Amino acid sequence: MIKEILSYQQESSSLEPSSEERALLLEAVAEYANEFLDNLHKLPAYNADNTGIAKLKEKKITDTSDIQSILELLNLSVDTIGINPASGGHLGYIPGGGIYTSALGDYLAAVLNKYAGLHFAAPGAVILENKIIKWVCDLLGFPSGALGNITSGGSIANMIAICTARDKMNISQDISNAVIYYSQQTHHCVNKAAKIAGLAACVYRQIPLDSEYRMDYTCLKRQIEEDLSTGLKPFFIASSCGSTDTGAVDEFSKIASIAKEHNVWFHVDAAYGGFFAMSSAAKSLFEGIQEADSVVLDPHKSLFLPYGAGIIIVKEGEQLFDSFHYMANYLQDAYADGAEVSPADLSPELTKHFRGLRIWIPLQLHGMNSFSAALDEKLLLTKYLYQKLKEIGFEVGPMPHLSVCIYRYTKDISDPNEFNQKLITAIQNDGRIFISSTTIEDVFWIRAAIVSFRTHLDTIDLFINLLQQKIHQLSK
Ligand SMILES: *Cc1c(COP(=O)(O)O)cnc(C)c1O
Repeated sequence: MIKEILSYQQESSSLEPSSEERALLLEAVAEYANEFLDNLHKLPAYNADNTGIAKLKEKKITDTSDIQSILELLNLSVDTIGINPASGGHLGYIPGGGIYTSALGDYLAAVLNKYAGLHFAAPGAVILENKIIKWVCDLLGFPSGALGNITSGGSIANMIAICTARDKMNISQDISNAVIYYSQQTHHCVNKAAKIAGLAACVYRQIPLDSEYRMDYTCLKRQIEEDLSTGLKPFFIASSCGSTDTGAVDEFSKIASIAKEHNVWFHVDAAYGGFFAMSSAAKSLFEGIQEADSVVLDPHKSLFLPYGAGIIIVKEGEQLFDSFHYMANYLQDAYADGAEVSPADLSPELTKHFRGLRIWIPLQLHGMNSFSAALDEKLLLTKYLYQKLKEIGFEVGPMPHLSVCIYRYTKDISDPNEFNQKLITAIQNDGRIFISSTTIEDVFWIRAAIVSFRTHLDTIDLFINLLQQKIHQLSK
């Protein structure tokens, strides 16, 4: 038996590369990453040519490769196709960014493999994550009893919020009488989360928008009062801090007072807009957000980090704990100390990636000022773009609250929807800038979301030139 054990040990030994092998692997990967970053300004923001994918499809998962072949295949079939979210030219949907130093956090988290779900297993890791949550709570003015969790993204964070509200408001017995209030600008993941939370049978009220695409709070108030008078139970208000379509920020103080008066859970989805609270220019938009019961933010959006980081904070932290804390016999040692709350008590996850490191390292290395300056830059670039679009004859939406701008070209155009669709396609085919569209109250709009830390003045000037050039070509 011993011989057999040792022979298996030998056969699987490549799972533990030697020091020299590790150095070669890391050098190859670092070289690839550096070349990507050094050439990023020359790479397109969008490439619709999918032919390179064929090689990946052919490749058998059971065939081994060396690191060079792996990187070549990634380059051919993955990294150069579709949207390039690392590019500053990505102005579609809500761009991320991918700050390099965050990758170093991921690298260390994977190598050290700390068990960040439980304080007993990794007290330092849990304290580090809780410090990030505390910082976010302070940023939004949440009190000391607030708790939160670092999730994989905004969708899961919204789901955690709605589950917590469901349990606290005790509506499971009477789901069909509970009412969820949202607007056309509420992100669809909130509805998806409600469905996952077993709340598909609730009453859903889509509250009309005001002229700035915010949830119209007078309509919200009227609807809640009407629902109460017919015996329904107003349960959950899903408001937005930076809607995906237009970047609209709801009026939190107004909504908070309605929510408080009628005992409704007040939730703010700030997945895109949340970290603009770091910008002094945007600060006033956040007035009243501290009154919310729960808020979601995505560090992989307005904190410019790579994909894979969302945050949920809940004002009365115990409510979050009550919804997600479970005890298992095999974890009895883990709960002998009861000092710090563990992520596993505040989310559906047990074993999890040590996500805190990918947030903490960039914050430590670059400092808060770098982030707030980048956010201020995005806000001003959006104003600049808005102004230029008006100057070159675009019909524009309301003045952007944050860094999403909507516009469409209608001057002497018989079918604006068709023309603007063609304009988007022409820009996408050029590839240097990627933009997307939306439809709001039956009107087709082009969007530009300026959220990447790599989008600068030269990007916006290039974009404006491209628009003028394509309009000229399409109008012929
Ligand atoms: C992106 C986004 C979400 C969804 O978050 P993911 O991180 O993509 O899961 C929710 N709400 C808003 C406003 C968003 O912009």
